[in-house]
Amino acid sequence: MIGFDLTEEQQLLEQSVREWAAREIAPHIKEDDRQHRFNRERVLGGMATLGLLGVCVPQQYGGAGMDYVCLGIASEELEYVDTSLRVIMSVHAGLNCLTLLTWGSEAQKQHYLVPQAQGHKISGYGLTEPGAGSDVRALQTTAVKKGDRYVLNGEKSWISLADVADHFLVFAWTDLEKKKVRDTNGLSAFIVERTFKGFTSGPMKEKWGILAGNTGWFKMDDVEVPEENVVGRLGEGFKIAMFALDQGRFTVAAGATGLIRACRDASVKYAKERHTFGVEIGQHQLVKEMIAQMESDYEAARLLWLRSGWLKNEGRRNTRETGLAKWFATVASERAAGDAVQIHGANGYSDEYPVGRFYRNCKGAVIYEGTREIHKVMQADYLLGYRVDRPTRCELPAHRS
Ligand SMILES: Cc1cc2nc3c(=O)[nH]c(=O)nc-3n(C[C@H](O)[C@H](O)[C@H](O)COP(=O)(O)OP(=O)(O)OC[C@H]3O[C@@H](n4cnc5c(N)ncnc54)[C@H](O)[C@@H]3O)c2cc1C
Repeated sequence: MIGFDLTEEQQLLEQSVREWAAREIAPHIKEDDRQHRFNRERVLGGMATLGLLGVCVPQQYGGAGMDYVCLGIASEELEYVDTSLRVIMSVHAGLNCLTLLTWGSEAQKQHYLVPQAQGHKISGYGLTEPGAGSDVRALQTTAVKKGDRYVLNGEKSWISLADVADHFLVFAWTDLEKKKVRDTNGLSAFIVERTFKGFTSGPMKEKWGILAGNTGWFKMDDVEVPEENVVGRLGEGFKIAMFALDQGRFTVAAGATGLIRACRDASVKYAKERHTFGVEIGQHQLVKEMIAQMESDYEAARLLWLRSGWLKNEGRRNTRETGLAKWFATVASERAAGDAVQIHGANGYSDEYPVGRFYRNCKGAVIYEGTREIHKVMQADYLLGYRVDRPTRCELPAHRS
């Protein structure tokens, strides 16, 4: 059996992230959201100072050397204030840094991971394309060998931090014959720098949620990438993309848990302030029902991501458990945000209160890093024996205290 108490280090991290976000971000978030403004200095500067950008990267690679539960704690605390903060943990710390730590060469770790973990460079993850989201086999980006380089051509869309990140983990077909038959063994992973010639990016202009965050597209027109920037071996791109999602989904699960808690707290506060029919609305049973549901969703979601973090610390495969945690927490966060707006009545329909922002923000996580439907199918397939996780060549390093 395991205990449920956080260690001293975990408690300290929880407290410091909570205090920083309440002090530095919360007072500005409404305006940043309204202005569609990503405040690079305030957000990334603060996160770097707290050591969050390399939170569970070992100290030898520039990180804080904390365990994976700490990654979850940071994600939960950040999304309690705004989803845009947690997204940074997902793509930079989860999808990118932990992938380089696990699959990267020593030279890649020194050159890319160290500055990323220190917060000097920011990183992203480029899998999705205009015609390929859930269906990764439909990717069109290609990487053709030319001497000691690969020439990349393609477009990635819906990429978090597309206009902000310095380095991207990019997935492209290196075997064009395998591309024709949609054999994922033809996909490879690359580190692409924004400064490489032929790289351009821009924002998704019509986005209606996570407005204080940056989401965009990038194009690669004959971008020459040195062959030492291939991550893992040629043909391992699909496995690496899925490995990365195990880490990203973990942060999404913990973050959505924080969003449920934010909805719960805002709802409890409002239910005691607002009166109808001569009593606080919290006295009405149907309002209590919504608040009680938030509490059970919060506690269940937290246990699920904690289990997943514990499995990571133990060095055990957790694709199934992490997927369940992500699916449950994001769907529950949508329920919590909808009910939080409901409890606020017409005031919930206004940006005067934060719950409208929670409502817009929660939906993205039901779509990215595996849609609700993809996760549902995955869980059923595990039960039915249609899906079995096989060992991969590289595994996330354990973190046993
Ligand atoms: C805010 C935001 C940030 C994002 N950040 C990133 C990022 O940093 N990097 C990145 O690579 N991507 C990112 N994405 C993209 C995201 O991962 C994709 O949107 C997601 O994988 C879904 O793909 P899609 O949008 O193409 O939907 P589709 O795959 O076209 O799905 C459309 C609908 O069909 C359903 N569907 C599809 N296939 C099946 C099936 N087999 N069974 C049942 N139902 C199915 C889906 O569940 C969904 O409801 C981001 C998206 C958003 C919204």
